[in-house]
Amino acid sequence: MRVPINTITPDTPSAEVIGWAHEIRDLGGLAFLLIRDRTGIIQVTVPKKKVAPEIAETIRAISRESVVRVTGMVKPEGKAPGGRELIPDAIEIVSLSATPLPLDVAEKVPAELDTRLDNRFLDARRPRVSAIFKIRNAVQHATRNFFFDNGFIEINTSKIVAAATEGGTELFPIAYFEKEAFLNQSPQLYKQMMMAAGFEKVYEIGPIFRAEEHNTTKHLNEATSIDIEVSFTDHIGVMQTLEDLVRDIYQFVDKTCSDAIADLGLDSFAVPEKGFPRLPYSEAIEIASAKCEEDIAYGDDIGTAAERAIGEEMGRMYFIVDWPSSIRPYYAMPYENDPEICKAFDMMHPRMELSSGAQRVHQHDLLVEQIAKKGLNPENFEFYLNPFRFGMPPHAGWGLGAERLVTTMLGLPNVREAVLFPRDRHRVVP
Ligand code: ATP
Ligand code: MG
Repeated sequence: MRVPINTITPDTPSAEVIGWAHEIRDLGGLAFLLIRDRTGIIQVTVPKKKVAPEIAETIRAISRESVVRVTGMVKPEGKAPGGRELIPDAIEIVSLSATPLPLDVAEKVPAELDTRLDNRFLDARRPRVSAIFKIRNAVQHATRNFFFDNGFIEINTSKIVAAATEGGTELFPIAYFEKEAFLNQSPQLYKQMMMAAGFEKVYEIGPIFRAEEHNTTKHLNEATSIDIEVSFTDHIGVMQTLEDLVRDIYQFVDKTCSDAIADLGLDSFAVPEKGFPRLPYSEAIEIASAKCEEDIAYGDDIGTAAERAIGEEMGRMYFIVDWPSSIRPYYAMPYENDPEICKAFDMMHPRMELSSGAQRVHQHDLLVEQIAKKGLNPENFEFYLNPFRFGMPPHAGWGLGAERLVTTMLGLPNVREAVLFPRDRHRVVP
């Protein structure tokens, strides 16, 4: 019976393991084989004179990264990983690996990100890489638990749409029979429609598609968005939900992923403190223009340099609130006493934006007016606008980028590290 490698201790009498040949060292009379499965590594020590001749022969035939099965006696060995070694009674090559390997799984030879992504199946055999996806798994699990416990309904909305959420050129057109269609850039309009349906609290974890030509370390053309929409609350209410969720996710990862955190070599894992500060946009701009070389003025979007400068100043997770209405989408609710600013926010990690949200406009006529003001044609939004005529409750929500959350949580240099098969300007394969 095969056992996971990390369950074998120096006291285990005997074991059967199946895994990949991580490293093979043949010193003549003595051979060492490191076997790796997803839980860890064990050293197989082969004193050739003392084992059956077939074993010595099989050892010679094993190429690195072949799948092998080994059964044998376990012995304490201080110098081996985990303080134990396996002396084989039998070795079998289950699946032979071709040579040469396109990528060194043992990481003796560093590889470029492109080579790694081209050979993602091999790259992901490295503990440091699989650790990222074990943590991403925990992030999504914690997210679903959080929402389930708080009475949210998980929804799955269509990714094939006829109109853009926000207009603009960020859409991928697709061939959809005789109609024009696109890949959705956000579930925004659908989750709002579910407020009209009376669901009150919904969330979705799904892909968003952005045809931006960016080639940056924080943009993907296909990303995963954690989206919520909540009725009978405002921007303040959903900002609190966002902070609570993010802290909850960090706590869950801290509690359940210690092995993966160690594999990543992170020496500290800090759960963000309660009470993310709320910085008005106008003050954020002042900080950015004082600290940045480039000219930044009120009414500008907060670009990468500004984001960095403000993040340095804040030194922790924070919100930027009270944005000019001119640079937020039509569905952001303007303040009654000052419609030039709106009830929109961004949640920021010191390194980058993680989430955008707002209280939404729920009044039909105001929404039509705001759509037109952005230079969009309200007629293209009829399917979306119609529900606003039949009792739309006040509501608010946000979208949180899953990859950016994982990237910043783990200090990864590039958001592509947090996606198995990233899609960017140059990459649609594998
Ligand atoms: P940015 O200004 O950084 O390009 P955005 O403001 O266009 O982002 P939103 O439309 O506000 O993005 O989307 C909400 C969240 O979804 C973002 O805060 C981010 O975490 C994530 N997100 C959006 N676009 C991308 C992308 N191209 N790649 C990775 N994550 C993204
Ligand atoms: Mg945004």
